[in-house]
Amino acid sequence: MAAKPEILVAGGGIGGLSVALALARKGRRVRVLEKASEFGEIGYGIQMGPNVYPILDRLGVFAKMAPHVVYPDALILADAITGDELSRINLGAKFRARFTHPYFVVHRRDLHGSILEACRERDDIALEASKGLVRFEERDNRVLVTCEDGSEYEGAALVGADGLWSPTRGAVVGDGGPRLAGHYVYRGLVPTEEIIDRSHLDSMTIYIGHNLHLVQYRLRGGAVMNNVATIESTRFKRGEPNPGDPAELEETFAQCAPRVREMLRYISRERNWVLHDRDPVTNWTKGRVTLLGDAAHPTLQYLAQGACMAIEDAVVLAAEVARHGEDFNAAFLAYQAQRMNRTARVVLSARFFGTYIHAGGGARSLRNELVAKRDPDDPWEADWLYRGIAVPD
Ligand SMILES: Cc1cc2nc3c(=O)[nH]c(=O)nc-3n(C[C@H](O)[C@H](O)[C@H](O)COP(=O)(O)OP(=O)(O)OC[C@H]3O[C@@H](n4cnc5c(N)ncnc54)[C@H](O)[C@@H]3O)c2cc1C
Repeated sequence: MAAKPEILVAGGGIGGLSVALALARKGRRVRVLEKASEFGEIGYGIQMGPNVYPILDRLGVFAKMAPHVVYPDALILADAITGDELSRINLGAKFRARFTHPYFVVHRRDLHGSILEACRERDDIALEASKGLVRFEERDNRVLVTCEDGSEYEGAALVGADGLWSPTRGAVVGDGGPRLAGHYVYRGLVPTEEIIDRSHLDSMTIYIGHNLHLVQYRLRGGAVMNNVATIESTRFKRGEPNPGDPAELEETFAQCAPRVREMLRYISRERNWVLHDRDPVTNWTKGRVTLLGDAAHPTLQYLAQGACMAIEDAVVLAAEVARHGEDFNAAFLAYQAQRMNRTARVVLSARFFGTYIHAGGGARSLRNELVAKRDPDDPWEADWLYRGIAVPD
């Protein structure tokens, strides 16, 4: 019997590699076309909710990265202005009983590297770097992709996992560029022994203040502390020049307690990330082409779920492809239908959570009162998210 035609995936990030692996495990041959000259991830941490644990486990990825994973003991919200803890969600036995699986944090390179390794172990996945998709067309039950270097690939279908600025999305949805949030992120990784305030070393802590927050958690067996400082730029809101530059980072953090201001020393000023998302859409599939991960539903990071959603997408998409045989349009529409509302809820909830944690004045006072009333062992607000999806076989 002739081998089934290859499925093309544009983008070799966490989403693209996850879907390649999930499809291959369903018996499909896959070719991943990655724009960058190497497959890789940035050198910082990522949080993973209990919703993705069973998927990474099923894909054979979790076992590979298990030695590097850290399990924080709690998710803590602290007031950046006073430095005091406001509330916590305990991540111990009760949490695991409620959500079946643990919450964990991991270095992005350990996560991406483990998925990459699992892909490399298979001869039904081809990985090609320096292959930026520039356009595609559907022709005679095939998708023809043209890359920046002029090379062409033919596949039975195309999954656009090509991120926030996805050219695949440009052709499928055609809704222009993503929405600029006016939020700016700085990161820093430092050896744990350099951390001065050691009160929350074992937790994932978010210090929240007016137009800012700072996240801290440890990686790589606890050896290094991952620090992420975010500001909601008032310069951006006023249309002023240089929004979110290092000077505005300092100015915004000036309101914080000395122990929180101190933490800016762990943050690199060399680079910042300009945050975007998109309004949810209902048409990210066209013919034999669909989108996945940030290409389909980019979100602000405030629920720490963008990559988790891409990983969930991957297994749902692969299951629908397996169910629909060569009818890729039916498979992709079924995948999209299952993923649309859940990912839209993440996008919209993340926007709301950003407003909530960045509150000032009377809103801050109300927020702190509400947050303080939370039961650390009853995080019911997270049920819809952390209970996850029915993971397809
Ligand atoms: C500050 C910050 C913190 C975050 N924290 C978390 C967290 O704790 N937990 C979580 O789950 N998520 C988090 N996220 C979100 C998460 O990083 C993203 O949602 C996730 O990386 C998306 O994966 P992706 O594969 O869809 O896209 P990407 O990671 O963007 O990968 C896209 C890939 O496509 C390639 N590409 C681009 N254009 C082309 C082209 N034309 N042709 C071929 N390839 C192309 C790119 O080089 C890249 O390799 C965070 C995001 C930010 C900004």
